Amino acid sequence: MNPPIDSQRMEKIVSLCKRRGFIFQSSEIYGGLNGAWDYGPLGVELKRNLKNYWWRTMVHERDDVVGMDGAILTHPAVLKASGHVEGFSDPMIDCRTCKAHLRSDQLVDKKGVRQCPNCGGKDLTEARQFNLMFETHVGASAEESSVAYLRPETAQSIFTQFKNILEVSRKKLPFGIAQIGKAFRNEINPRNFTFRSREFEQMELEYFCRPEQGMELLEYWKEERLKFYENIGLSRANLHVLNVPDEDRAFYSKGTYDIEYDFPFGRQELEGVAYRTDYDLSQHQKASGKSLEYFGEETKERFIPHVVEPSAGVDRTVLAMICEAYAEDQAPNDKGEMESRIVLRFSPRMAPVKCAVFPLLKNKEQLVAKAKEIVALLRPHMAVFYDESGAIGRRYRRQDEIGTPFGVTVDFETFGEKDQALRDTVTLRDRDSMKQERVSIGELVKFLSSRIR
Ligand code: ATP
Repeated sequence: MNPPIDSQRMEKIVSLCKRRGFIFQSSEIYGGLNGAWDYGPLGVELKRNLKNYWWRTMVHERDDVVGMDGAILTHPAVLKASGHVEGFSDPMIDCRTCKAHLRSDQLVDKKGVRQCPNCGGKDLTEARQFNLMFETHVGASAEESSVAYLRPETAQSIFTQFKNILEVSRKKLPFGIAQIGKAFRNEINPRNFTFRSREFEQMELEYFCRPEQGMELLEYWKEERLKFYENIGLSRANLHVLNVPDEDRAFYSKGTYDIEYDFPFGRQELEGVAYRTDYDLSQHQKASGKSLEYFGEETKERFIPHVVEPSAGVDRTVLAMICEAYAEDQAPNDKGEMESRIVLRFSPRMAPVKCAVFPLLKNKEQLVAKAKEIVALLRPHMAVFYDESGAIGRRYRRQDEIGTPFGVTVDFETFGEKDQALRDTVTLRDRDSMKQERVSIGELVKFLSSRIR
């Protein structure tokens, strides 16, 4: 069953994102650019942690995957061969009553009559195809010959560089090429915060194989990708796999799974895992006249490899992590009274700041100096944040709200004031359980590093 839509929760999340510097509307001071978003100081850390973890698990920890970073500006021939120039479009309909521009799948069907979802109007235009690609002009003259496109996906540069990468990496099938980068689509209706944007980032792997391995690898990658989402803190209960039915799949795909997530605005796609057969490489071989074949040394045959593609959205995953993490609960203030708190329960691996360091009092030089020493000790290993202002409970609360999993407080015990056994120890507070324990300063790096990796 699809989850109920919770727009109030979504509003709170959007407002927290702005208030604490995760995500801002792009060009906000000029009224905003629809479908474009800027990530602030915390958002960029979260996004980077996600991309680094994807790269680590998809490239560095594997023998069979190499990376690349392709250009955004794309030769029109590439996107003609891939089918994007002809076919990358959404049927679009206008409502003559309220002038809304709608994708035809957004219309509501009331007893067989199609209506505008905004005003209920039935006076609608015919559907016309609207290409989602951004076109630009390369060079000084705006002539036809200099047209280029902003890539609508990162995948195509992987296909066009397939031969070069095969030669330099000397990989044998099956092997993959991974890429993280920006993609652009002139979406008709950008909506649901960053979920559907016009500029976004993708993390894509093209995993090349022999034809007979395709279906099995499709299953393999679906499972790997589900594990990935669990490892970044999304709960399995909120993740769903849609086996895309024949009629909704691209004609060349022999199997596609959509990995979906229960957002507060409904169940929506995070990632597509598609077995694309040899379609892409064949198209580019045909159009370019250059061989994109693979020579199998064992069998002495030449063939075009097939490919399985797990294609994920960075921004959608960041949004899913924020939605998953957002919680409101009760926590004691400095007087021990319970207060409501907002907490982002990010997996420590993904949290933008890993550890906050506080001197108990800001006017005690000894405490401040020791806290700064601890910051310097931790800084080479993780993102830390130093805060000396306000009551300690308020400082914890500020960190809870941005999802910092650990807080270290330097107090008088750190100097063994009452108990020499506590000398050179600090209080380590856990964001979720709010439990505090004494940890020796010498153990801190090891203790925290093992929890954030
Ligand atoms: P949708 O059906 O939601 O438009 P899609 O099936 O067209 O998505 P793909 O072409 O499979 O998406 O792209 C792979 C991934 O790129 C998606 O799963 C998503 O995470 C991300 N993505 C695609 N379009 C957008 C967008 N407009 N904004 C943000 N992320 C996007």
